[in-house]
Amino acid sequence: MPGKVNIHAWRLFRNRLATRDNLLKRGLTLDSVDCPSCMSFPEDSDHLFTRCSTAREVGALLKQWWPDWPFNAASIEELWDAIKRTKKVGEVIGLAYLWVLWQQRNDKVYKGKMLSVTGIVNSIQVQALLWLKARSKFGNLINWDGWITAPMDSVCNNFTLAPR
Ligand SMILES: [Zn+2]
Repeated sequence: MPGKVNIHAWRLFRNRLATRDNLLKRGLTLDSVDCPSCMSFPEDSDHLFTRCSTAREVGALLKQWWPDWPFNAASIEELWDAIKRTKKVGEVIGLAYLWVLWQQRNDKVYKGKMLSVTGIVNSIQVQALLWLKARSKFGNLINWDGWITAPMDSVCNNFTLAPR
């Protein structure tokens, strides 16, 4: 997993991402405090990653794919507590979710567009599989068809991740 992904998660868990509420606290003047994704609520990390309509729709599809996805989490803390209780593979999916959603939010801010909900889910699935393949000595045993059908079943029983 690239270091920038871990730094992203580290910043997020300490509420230090450059979300609009945090930029305001740093004294910046903003045209809007609204969430770039839904444009309906003020942006903070809990909103962007758990309560936003985009996050809810992405979460609903993730739950169809992987039933342990904590669809009802209402904060980053709840989301990550639930993910930590799953397997290591779940943590990689969780990190891919946090990473892809933030990249898409930034694309909306800086390029004026973001992927559709299904596009975001697909990007999370691709990203998580790439990271798993890079970190696991059994990575070659995971194939895309199995992964996309049932992620946990596709990962062999003695699957372990290389140390961080
Ligand atoms: Zn929103």
